[in-house]
Amino acid sequence: MPQIINGKEISAQIKEELKEKVAAMKKEGISVCLAVIQVGDDPASAVYVGNKKKACAYIGITSLSYELPEETTQEELLALIGELNGRKDVNGILVQLPLPEHIDEDAVIRAIVPEKDVDGFHPQSVGALCIGQEGYVSCTPAGIIQLLKRSGIEIEGKECVIIGRSNIVGKPMALLLLRENGTVTITHSRTKNLKEVTKRADILVAAVGKPKMITREYVKEGAVVIDVGIHRNENNKLCGDVDYDDVAPVCSAITPVPGGVGPMTIAMLMHNCVESAALRH
Ligand code: NAD
Repeated sequence: MPQIINGKEISAQIKEELKEKVAAMKKEGISVCLAVIQVGDDPASAVYVGNKKKACAYIGITSLSYELPEETTQEELLALIGELNGRKDVNGILVQLPLPEHIDEDAVIRAIVPEKDVDGFHPQSVGALCIGQEGYVSCTPAGIIQLLKRSGIEIEGKECVIIGRSNIVGKPMALLLLRENGTVTITHSRTKNLKEVTKRADILVAAVGKPKMITREYVKEGAVVIDVGIHRNENNKLCGDVDYDDVAPVCSAITPVPGGVGPMTIAMLMHNCVESAALRH
């Protein structure tokens, strides 16, 4: 049977480490504060925001909550971000996506100063990642690197194939695996002979957004399989982009859904907030 990469356990470890660090920082008079902005009342966003605030409370990070009505204008949102950018007590600013249609997401992301861009979505953060400089890294791919490292899986020299090229998962994932000296291929919806490419992977990351699409036909025997997808199946049960029952017997390690990549995203957001406060001092 494969090694089950336990994201629940690893994210709990990271949160414990951060809790200790925040307590030590507090003794030196350094506090950590995250501003969380939600526009509208999308129920999924409300759950994500709630989980982020809960994680803050557990670790000892102050969270400021801004729940703005759906009809908030872009100017009003940008004005709030401008105010938070200028506040010395705020270390991180998070705007929960997606935003209502009348607001330009790119303009909002660009408005957050890179020093407080704890989601790692600002073009400057992405550019820094691209040229190997310091900056905040998108939380889900950063979490996947932690999962691999803390599970003793070597990346250097490995064939790494990513399915998906989104700005928040696929592309930063590729850059991070490259930074760890992996040999990286990105595949996407226009890739020809996808299975042939994915079968080369020692480490296969599925961020395709299609429930259970990745069966064992896509996987080399003994590969490490990371499943980023989150879906609800017909029985309202969570599943990933990978057909777990089909793939698990042929791979050497695999992340389950739930309990794999999912819990790592919030842990890395908390990590970025703590880092932001530490860097400021
Ligand atoms: P996205 O829809 O932005 O991107 C999907 C990518 O898959 C695209 O680049 C597309 O080219 C590629 N693709 C689509 N169909 C394909 C096909 N048939 N063959 C090959 N490539 C194909 O999605 P995303 O935001 O990157 O998210 C991907 C998945 O990960 C979703 O299920 C999402 O819910 C999940 N997700 C999970 C977390 C987490 O915290 N675990 C975070 C972000 C996203």
